[in-house]
Amino acid sequence: MNIILFGPPGAGKGTQAKKMSDHFGIPQLSTGNIFRENIKKETPLGKKVKSILDAGRLVPDETVVDLVTDELEKNDYKNGVILDGFPRTVNQAEALEVYLSEKGETIDYFITLDVPEEELVERILSRGEGRSDDTAEKVKTRLKIYRDETEPVLNYYKEKGAVKEINGVGSIEEIFNRIKNAVS
Ligand code: AMP
Repeated sequence: MNIILFGPPGAGKGTQAKKMSDHFGIPQLSTGNIFRENIKKETPLGKKVKSILDAGRLVPDETVVDLVTDELEKNDYKNGVILDGFPRTVNQAEALEVYLSEKGETIDYFITLDVPEEELVERILSRGEGRSDDTAEKVKTRLKIYRDETEPVLNYYKEKGAVKEINGVGSIEEIFNRIKNAVS
């Protein structure tokens, strides 16, 4: 089962993706986490993307698509994947479709978490994870990029008819229950 967990920064994708991964027994693939690990370890990829993440901008499509398609070749993902933070542009979504269709696969669920913008800002500024991009100024940039470049991905999947819109306001468990209901 292949699932995309979608939504703006601060919507709770990482938290819910982890819970879904435990519940469904399918690994989570978080592009943001992979980039942060590479930055921490100062790998060539980390060095390449550090200033982009610090600025709250998007890593170039080619870099992200190569990363995700390489990762998905691993045996861990033989039963599927929960994609968290990818695709973030229509180009990425199209590349993913090509990759999956060559394998005779598809996206089974596209789950989008709806959270009002004021709450997103509040959540990000109070989450205290020490992320370099969790500052008031960077959050503004990230939300603008989300609206301009990432939100069109939602329409791309809506046209395919696979979108489940989930109310992303409430407790972690409440939101997780809504997701479980949408997936079963
Ligand atoms: P996240 O942890 O999902 O909020 O991602 C953190 C940062 O990693 C983003 O602000 C981007 O700089 C970068 N990033 C993660 N996923 C992608 C993606 N699919 N496309 C481009 N940049 C990404």
